[in-house]
Amino acid sequence: MVNVRMMQTGRQYERPRWAPRLKRDEITRLYAMDAKGIVDEGLIDEVGYGLLARCESILAVAEAYGGKVQCVRCGATILSDHRRETAIQCPACEWCLPWSEFRKSTRRKCLDVGQIEVFLKEFITKFSAARGPNRKMVLIDTLIHRYHGELLGNPERPAANNLIGGKRPEVIAFLNRLSYGDQSTPGLKASHDARCRKQENSARGHEDANE
Ligand SMILES: [Zn+2]
Repeated sequence: MVNVRMMQTGRQYERPRWAPRLKRDEITRLYAMDAKGIVDEGLIDEVGYGLLARCESILAVAEAYGGKVQCVRCGATILSDHRRETAIQCPACEWCLPWSEFRKSTRRKCLDVGQIEVFLKEFITKFSAARGPNRKMVLIDTLIHRYHGELLGNPERPAANNLIGGKRPEVIAFLNRLSYGDQSTPGLKASHDARCRKQENSARGHEDANE
């Protein structure tokens, strides 16, 4: 473990770069096209690979806070003790970064993994192997709606806003309005309708319980 005081002062640190949250307009355009039956492969890839990169960033940060940092240059796994005065140093290349600088790289980036780690991992595995725009669209929709369910189901948990840009109520309102139609990718509208019915039933259940 390298002591930070032994590192040169004034050096330019090479901090990790994290993939940003998805923009709501991109997702709106994707669903609007899909609802009209238009398959825009470029847009599907833009959203899908954007989500993939974001999922990978969130998981890499969770791993780093768990003690395993990924080298930004060569991808090697580096063990870190998270102490302020020590630096992360790659055993395979020259990359070296004080832990405090690593923390700065994650600050205010909404990278908390929350409760959706399993969904993110599943998306990465399946999307990386997916062929064809329909399959990719179904996987994007599955992830977005699991995320939507998570936002609706855990209103008290502030650290969940990690996939789509905006404040939590804005993101929920946005996801409530996504377009679905008879021309949507096969399976999307049916699973959307089923989810709506489930939400209505569970809301009704709460009302009944409160009467
Ligand atoms: Zn390295």
